[in-house]
Amino acid sequence: MRRKPTLKGFKYRIYPTDAQMVFFAKTFGCCRFVWNKMLDEKLCAYKKKERLKRFTPTKYKEEFPFLREVDSLALCNVQLQIEKAFKDHFRNRKQFKLPKFKKKRDKQSYTTNNTHNSIKVDFEKGLLYLPKLREGVKIELHRGFDGKIKSVTVSKTNDGKYFASILVETANRRNKVVEPKSKACGIDLGLEHFVTVTNDLGSYKVEHPKYLLKAEERLRRLQRSLSRKQKDSKNSEKARLRLARQHAYITNARNDFLHKLSKAIIDENQVVVVEDINVKGLLKTRLAKSISDSGWSKFLTYLKYKAEWYGRTFIQVDRFFPSSKLCHRCGRKNEDLALHDRTWCCPACGEKHDRDVNASINLYLVGLGRPEVTPVEQVLVDDRSPNGLPKKPSCNETGSLITKC
Ligand SMILES: [Zn+2]
Repeated sequence: MRRKPTLKGFKYRIYPTDAQMVFFAKTFGCCRFVWNKMLDEKLCAYKKKERLKRFTPTKYKEEFPFLREVDSLALCNVQLQIEKAFKDHFRNRKQFKLPKFKKKRDKQSYTTNNTHNSIKVDFEKGLLYLPKLREGVKIELHRGFDGKIKSVTVSKTNDGKYFASILVETANRRNKVVEPKSKACGIDLGLEHFVTVTNDLGSYKVEHPKYLLKAEERLRRLQRSLSRKQKDSKNSEKARLRLARQHAYITNARNDFLHKLSKAIIDENQVVVVEDINVKGLLKTRLAKSISDSGWSKFLTYLKYKAEWYGRTFIQVDRFFPSSKLCHRCGRKNEDLALHDRTWCCPACGEKHDRDVNASINLYLVGLGRPEVTPVEQVLVDDRSPNGLPKKPSCNETGSLITKC
C-alpha cells in the first residue's frame, strides 16, 4: 500500500553574503509593501461593504517597477497569505482578527515555491539555490532530508540571523518507531510542576527546567534595561539586540525541552490522555502569565502530531471531567476541593492524595479503558500496589527534572 506523502519542515541556519543580504532585505521589503498595499485596498472595499475582488500583485509592477527585481513567487505567496487571513476572519471572527499592516520591525520573511527545480540543495557543497540566487546561499545542513522540495521560507530574526525553512514532501515521515513500554499514560498539567505523569510504570513529576527560569529572569532584567534607555539612541539599539537574542534563546530552549519531553512520552506509551484545559479561556485569567510561559498549548500540539506520526492514540478528555476532584481509589467526587488544595484526604475511603498525582492517575485510568488496551489487560490492575498506585517509577531522557512520586 502506498502511503500518502506528508509534508515535513526542516529549518536550517543560512549565511548569506553581503549582496545576498541586500537581496533578502529587498524581497522582505517588497513583500511587506505588497501586503500593506493589498491590505489597504481590501480594507477600503470592506469598509464600503463592497465585494472584495481578487487581484494579483502584478498590477502594482507597472507603477512600482522595483517589484520586478525580486522573486515574483514571493509576492504571489503574499497574495495567498492575505487571502487566507481574510478567509479565516470571515469564517471565525472571534478567533481571527482582521489582518494588520506590517511594520519594518516585525519578523521579516518571504516564502517561495519550487517550480521546475528552481530550488535545490547541494548537500556536498552546503549550498541552497533559490530563485534569483543562482550562485547559492551557504547553508548549515546539520541534518539531511530526502524527498521533493515544495517551498522555502527565508527569514531574518530580530537579532540578525538568517534561516531557511524547507518544506519537503516525504514518504517516510517519522523516525524509528519504538515498542511502547506502557499501555497508557495520564498527564496532568500543573503550575508548580510542568506536568505530572502516571503510566504503567509509575508516577513522576517533571519540573520547569531551571535554565528556563533563569533565562526568564534575565529577560525581565533586559526589558527593564531597555525601557530605561533613551529612545532611538545607540545604547537603546544595543539593548534591543540583547533582548531579541534572549527572546530567541528562550524560544529555542523551551521548544527543545517540549520536543524532548513529548517525544519521550510518545515513545513510552500507547495511549496518551490529557485534560482539555481550554488554554484560551485560562489565558484570560490571572494564571495567564504562567500558562503562556509554560508552553502548555505547544506541548499538547507536539504530543498530538507525534502521536499521529508514531501510531499512538492521543486523547483529550472532556473539559468537565473532574480529574482533580475524583478519588482514584473509590471514585468519590470531592466537590469541596479548592484550587489551592495541593493535598487532600478522601472523605469516603480516607486515602491521602497529592492533587496532581491523583489527577494524572484518573487520566491514566481513562486511557486504560480505551479499546486499544484490551479488556484482558485491564483486569491486571492487581499487579499494582494495594493502594492502586502503579509500582515502579519510570525514567526517561528528561532525567534530572523528574521527581519520582
Ligand atoms: Zn476515596
